[in-house]
Amino acid sequence: MWFRKGFLLGLFTLAQLVAGVEDYYKVLGIDKHATDKQIKSAYRQLSKKYHPDKNPNDSTAHDKFVLVSEAYEALSDAESRQIYDQYGYEGLKQRQQGGAGGGHHDPFDLFSRFFGGGGHFGQPGQRRGPNIEVKVGIALRDFYNGRTTEFQWEKQQICDECEGTGAADGVVHKCHSCNGHGSKMVRHQIAPGMITQVQMQCDVCGGRGKTIKHKCKVCGGERVVRKPTPVSLKVGRGMADGARIVYENEADESPDWVAGDLHVTIVEKEPSLTEDNPDKVDGVFFRRKDNDLHWREVLSVREAWMGDWTRNLTHLDGHVVRLGRKRGEVVQPGHVETVVGEGMPIFHEDGDSVYHTTEFGNLYVEYVVVLPDQMESGMEKDLWAVFQKWRVKNGVDLHKDSGRPEKVVLKEDQDREREHEEL
Ligand SMILES: [Zn+2]
Ligand SMILES: [Zn+2]
Repeated sequence: MWFRKGFLLGLFTLAQLVAGVEDYYKVLGIDKHATDKQIKSAYRQLSKKYHPDKNPNDSTAHDKFVLVSEAYEALSDAESRQIYDQYGYEGLKQRQQGGAGGGHHDPFDLFSRFFGGGGHFGQPGQRRGPNIEVKVGIALRDFYNGRTTEFQWEKQQICDECEGTGAADGVVHKCHSCNGHGSKMVRHQIAPGMITQVQMQCDVCGGRGKTIKHKCKVCGGERVVRKPTPVSLKVGRGMADGARIVYENEADESPDWVAGDLHVTIVEKEPSLTEDNPDKVDGVFFRRKDNDLHWREVLSVREAWMGDWTRNLTHLDGHVVRLGRKRGEVVQPGHVETVVGEGMPIFHEDGDSVYHTTEFGNLYVEYVVVLPDQMESGMEKDLWAVFQKWRVKNGVDLHKDSGRPEKVVLKEDQDREREHEEL
């Protein structure tokens, strides 16, 4: 593809002009003390963002894509990073002209080492790897407060050691058996004088069209390795239980395809007393329904009936919600109190900002009244006396209190009763 090479050359000169001014650390959005992991992660994000396939007809994106790959190459290698830190861009250029450290790679090659697919995605006819579904359990307090956390999964990655060639020396040969086609025409005699030709996958190279002499020690010639891979996960305040977060092109990698997407579903996990409640907050045991929270509070008979009680509920971020009644305020068993604005934060893309203040759902407190099984005998006597006194004085008409209509006696019932009397 002479045309692409020429085109890239054009980009290089432009990018180098820009790079003379721009700081590689700034290009990757990292600081001078960034770890290798941070450099890699910055490259992954930015190279996808500025990839020309994703930004057709946008020449600034093209330039940025090339620049990001340049910055990555300069900073991912310990020696060239040291030179860059000490002597800057000029130092690096001199080293390259001196022959050490090689020149620049094709930025699309570098991209394909991370994402496969020959450095491109979204092109017609291009193979795409499968999407992967992952479920991650998140504690309720993290849904409430928001949290950036990390999880790991066993991801298939393009082997770093051989850069996805499968060869220890990086040398790949054309398969002689199939002449690089990956398939062969095999002649079959099905009857005397009748011969058919069948196309079959090449058994020497397994259909790849390429062979290697010395297998890479790390991947055993497989070109890929499976290893635990950390993924950073940002749980926004108030995100829904079951929300899906899509990581574009972060599923299994292979030199044969463009990596598919990683789909992460976050689900609320059962709270664990020891792990998830270091601050000993009551809110850990709230139950969530969409934007609302539910809580069950236990009251004694005295509290429910006589009032004069308070409770301090420690919410998921440690603030206190005060419940209580004054003397004489009755709470019926099963009563549900609405505490407005003490539910879940209502999820918003931008979170809290100058332009947006988070709103909250409600907290519903259900009251359960427990009667004591046993009572101290002195207390029992006193209470009994009080009830006796007032029972005689006022009487209690349960029917009247219930608010039901007056008793209606059906005619047949009256007849039956009369019969009964006669017997
Ligand atoms: Zn390898
Ligand atoms: Zn072959």
